Amino acid sequence: MKIAVIGSGYVGLVTGTCFAEIGNKVICVDIDEDKINKLNNNIVPIYEPGLEELVIKNKKEQRLGFTTDLKEAVKESDIIFICVGTPPKKSGEADLSYVENVARTIAEVMDSYKIIAEKSTVPVETGEKVAKIIKAYNTHNVDFDVVSNPEFLREGSAIEDFMHPDRIVIGCEREKARQIMQKLYAPLNAPILFTEIKSAEIIKHASNSFLATKISFINALSNICELAGADVEKVAEGMGYDKRIGRAFLNAGIGYGGSCFPKDIEAFIRIAEKLGYDFKLLKTVREINNEQKKTFIKKIEKILWNVKGKTIGILGLAFKPNTDDMRSAPSIDIINDIQKEGAKIKAYDPKAMEKAKHLLKNIEYCNNPYDVAKDADALVIATEWKEFKKLDLKKIKSLMKHSLIIDGRNIFNPYDVKKEGFTYISIGRKDVV
Ligand code: NAD
Repeated sequence: MKIAVIGSGYVGLVTGTCFAEIGNKVICVDIDEDKINKLNNNIVPIYEPGLEELVIKNKKEQRLGFTTDLKEAVKESDIIFICVGTPPKKSGEADLSYVENVARTIAEVMDSYKIIAEKSTVPVETGEKVAKIIKAYNTHNVDFDVVSNPEFLREGSAIEDFMHPDRIVIGCEREKARQIMQKLYAPLNAPILFTEIKSAEIIKHASNSFLATKISFINALSNICELAGADVEKVAEGMGYDKRIGRAFLNAGIGYGGSCFPKDIEAFIRIAEKLGYDFKLLKTVREINNEQKKTFIKKIEKILWNVKGKTIGILGLAFKPNTDDMRSAPSIDIINDIQKEGAKIKAYDPKAMEKAKHLLKNIEYCNNPYDVAKDADALVIATEWKEFKKLDLKKIKSLMKHSLIIDGRNIFNPYDVKKEGFTYISIGRKDVV
């Protein structure tokens, strides 16, 4: 099939590349000329495992192209995926102006039947609004369908998630669109749930909200465990064996971040409010998440007594491992806060440092974790990259001014760190001093 993907960011680029990989002819569009130039020169502007190889391969095999010309891309395609950003407004509501702009242009230029698929995360009823806009600007008066096809991929494992999804959700109102979407996704051999558009839109917000609820639940428990002298890792393990609960997303830490959870939770609270429901549960999830970060910062300040003049090494800047995405990364608030208190910051992240440099200033960016440890008064783990779990702790200790690790991701076994003579502060577990 011929596909246009509008918005070539984390979602659009993976979506377009994967659709090309399963045999479609795909053109990815973006308004960012620099991004499109890079992609046309085989430079992938984001880090996502496996993506660069797939982009280059599919370009070479002429199934994948990149352009800034939205109009041409629409004319050339049967299905148009909208993958532009839906960032939060000041009120927390999703800003749908990018979606609206794209919908209007599609309507003005489409000259044959098209499916317009929302892949961006949007509030319930957006599909209706997109259909209205397209109807209003449908210059050539052609037949069309709007479908909702929310995306569930996770940064860091996006290709795998796209190619082997737990489920594909398609909200559509007409048989014609249903059949085309079913054919498009058939090669993935995954369960497809067809619903009306509104349910599909809610499934996305509901799924992210539920996952965020699990995170806030275990983070709340981590505080109880600390107060009671229990171990949140063991508690999570014990809960996770119960198939009704499951172990996934029960990792205590410094709270969720990233481009999706904070914004989607905020947007869902606003959607509920507009519909006339006070979503108290989600408000509490958000509050616990914010508190968790603050509690962690207090831990750093408490153990160091005075942060001023001390050198703090930060390991991990991205909001999670295997990505370079810094959007709403907890490391940002942590660094800003301790910098305000007068600490000197050294930092290392395997992939996110280029992006971090635009956001976090007055930091000594290092080439590896050992350079971060050199002369540091404390090491703070902010992202659970695999390589940090394998650090040579003896070497780290020999380099540091004080042997103190404050672990926001529980990546070490407290006894292993104690054996090496560290003071070790983690989340929801007894301090090792
Ligand atoms: P992103 O910021 O990485 O990408 C959005 C892209 O759209 C940018 O490159 C931007 O330049 C482009 N754009 C904006 N206006 C445009 C226009 N008029 N024409 C063409 N391009 C335009 O964002 P993202 O992370 O890919 O997220 C996109 C959507 O997918 C959001 O709604 C997000 O909530 C949702 N989503 C994201 C993830 C994720 O993990 N990142 C997962 C599932 C769903």
